[in-house]
Order: sequence, then C-alpha cells, then structure tokens
Amino acid sequence: MSLLTKTMMSEKSGSQDLLLCRECGGRCCQGSPGIWVDPERFFTLFFSGQHLTLEQLRERLPELGLVLWEKTGVPIPAPGSLVNGCAFLGIEGCRFAVSERPCQCLALVPKQETLNQQQGCLCQIPEEFSREVARQRWQDYWQTV
Ligand code: SF4
Ligand code: SF4
Repeated sequence: MSLLTKTMMSEKSGSQDLLLCRECGGRCCQGSPGIWVDPERFFTLFFSGQHLTLEQLRERLPELGLVLWEKTGVPIPAPGSLVNGCAFLGIEGCRFAVSERPCQCLALVPKQETLNQQQGCLCQIPEEFSREVARQRWQDYWQTV
C-alpha cells in the first residue's frame, strides 16, 4: 500500500499520526475492516437517510460491496473482506471518501506501540466506537424498524 491508512482514514489526524501511519503502511486495513457504529450515519451516507429493514438492507448491501457482520447476534454493516484485509483497500489507500468511511476507521487512534512490533495493530478504538457499543446501537435500531 503506497498511501497511508490514516491519511485515508481521517482528515483530522495530527501530523504525528500521519507519520505513524505512513511508516506503518496500514496494518489496520490489512486486518479486519472497521464497522459503522452509528445506524443514523450509515443510512444517511448510503440511503439518503431512508431507514431500511434488515431484509431490505440484505438485498441492497451487495451492490455497495458491503456485508453484514452477524457474529455478535446483531447484524452490523461493514466493508467486505478479502484474504489480505479490507476489500476497500486500494493501491492509493481507502476507496471510500473520508466522510463515508466506517465510524471505527475514523475513530482509530494510532499508537507508536504498533510500530514497535513486527506485525499486528495495537492502535486503539475509543470505547464509544467499540464493537459492544455498535452492537447495542444496531440492536436498538433493528427494534425500531
Ligand atoms: S495500524 Fe495504526 S499506525 Fe498503522 S495505519 Fe492503522 S491507525 Fe495508523
Ligand atoms: S474502509 Fe477504508 S479505512 Fe476502513 S478498513 Fe477499509 S480501507 Fe481501511
């Protein structure tokens, strides 16, 4: 990957973050993609604010290259995955516009510790963007449609 994940991930990154991500080369994107934690944001971005049912969303996601993660028991939309990481990771970085990227991708906080080891990502997702919070928010959403 030639462009750095944090460049792809956040316009509000500080220069130190950008340097870290440039050096890293995007291990986060090469692992598991981030997810959209906030249902309102997700439907605003991809469906003009229209609230879809689960069945409707299942039908529409493939055309967007997205999938539903259901391991937690609550369906949560995410980018598709390939063997080498996120399906939206291209040569120039993330193929989503910054404003469209999954909440977790935008929230990830780069950590020097990631660079201090040979592989893997030790960068941190703030608690409000955790998978558990996402699970709760999507569970609440699915109960309203
Ligand atoms: S793994 Fe961490 S340091 Fe590397 S690109 Fe992603 S956020 Fe930046
Ligand atoms: S959506 Fe973009 S920023 Fe998020 S994991 Fe995929 S390539 Fe990386």
